[in-house]
Amino acid sequence: MDINGFKYYCSECKKEYDIKPDLMLCPDCREDDLEGKPLHGVLKVKLPGSLVNSKQVHSNFDLFDYLPVERKYFPDIPVGNSLIYKSPNIKDDTGFNNLYLKFDGTNPSGSYKDRASYLVSAFARKHGINKIVVASTGNAASSMACIAASAGQDAIIFMPSTAPKAKLVQCLQYGASLIPVNGNYDKAFDLSLKFSDKTGYLNRNTAYNPMTIEGKKTVSFEIVQQLPGNDIDYVFVPVGDGVIISGVIKGFCDLLEIGLINKIPKIIGVQSEGSSFIYKGFKENIFDLEYKATTIADSISVDAARNGYCAVADLKSVDGDVVCVTDDEILDAQLYLSKKSGIFCEPSSSVAYAGFNKLKTIIAIDKNIVVLLTGHGLKDINNAMKKIEYPKVYEPDINLIMKEMKLI
Ligand SMILES: *Cc1c(COP(=O)(O)O)cnc(C)c1O
Repeated sequence: MDINGFKYYCSECKKEYDIKPDLMLCPDCREDDLEGKPLHGVLKVKLPGSLVNSKQVHSNFDLFDYLPVERKYFPDIPVGNSLIYKSPNIKDDTGFNNLYLKFDGTNPSGSYKDRASYLVSAFARKHGINKIVVASTGNAASSMACIAASAGQDAIIFMPSTAPKAKLVQCLQYGASLIPVNGNYDKAFDLSLKFSDKTGYLNRNTAYNPMTIEGKKTVSFEIVQQLPGNDIDYVFVPVGDGVIISGVIKGFCDLLEIGLINKIPKIIGVQSEGSSFIYKGFKENIFDLEYKATTIADSISVDAARNGYCAVADLKSVDGDVVCVTDDEILDAQLYLSKKSGIFCEPSSSVAYAGFNKLKTIIAIDKNIVVLLTGHGLKDINNAMKKIEYPKVYEPDINLIMKEMKLI
């Protein structure tokens, strides 16, 4: 495989660049001050010409052939290949015969973010870099800490000190250096950029590092591999900063270019009404840099989405769509999925199912639909408690318990 044939291109001006670890954004399109803004000049990876229309055997292709880092550089930890699951109970309930749930909570750190961290880690190793820095609200940090630990790399994390405790604990368990910041995510983002500029650490920040979109494209390749012979009609994707959705779209665009699929599915981004920066950009062309998000779904709670411009352009280029749901619908969907399918996912994942719920009356019942469930429910217990009732404590007396349960 001609790994050198991979290039970067700017998602805005389309100029091409050689792939180098110190190149993060298009030098012509980027802005100097990045704090709290969507990024201009996001770079994407262009497939080598030799792969275009190469049409390898459909279900038998090797995903690593389509990534810009050779397999030997990836750490030995099983990332991706998440299960795809058709729930019989949900089928009975909804009538949809081909509704698939793809659960990425099975990744080592419990979220989809591992797909990006895995590629970033391999990229660092290929370029002889052993230190990686990231700013994150939670999952990207715990993910980078996890993958770096498995690769024997150092991870340094800038995180708002108010981040969810489970995600903070994960970072420390994995042995990362944690810098809790008395400030929000934008401040942490900015500090991490200054840190990588001063130290030469590789920066993994979402959207900023081109390997984050590229790593997140792998889900589309897996879906096509896992459902051979099927055209996928719809994919529902949770959206916060918009990197997952750009990755999913990039994956399907690559697959189309290679000749492995015939059409790009309808990609539906789903946001919380309380975190709808990309929704407003897509529907109304409004990018409100003063926007403040408030949603219980912390992993998709984003003010000015870092990948906002790029994600909206990507969605338009493939005729995708974006819908919003309420926090209450998100929590209902979380509980529904747990009870019906056995998949307990984060609110920032069940948002995708809530989006499907919202649109299902206008989707034909036999369509092939994939709902991406991106993170494990155990990462955020507090919100998961909102729709359940914690039982009272019983005295250890079987007769009393049976009586209270109305069984005797
Ligand atoms: C980060 C994250 C998302 C959102 O991804 P973006 O790239 O920010 O849009 C969704 N679900 C989970 C579990 C995440 O960690």
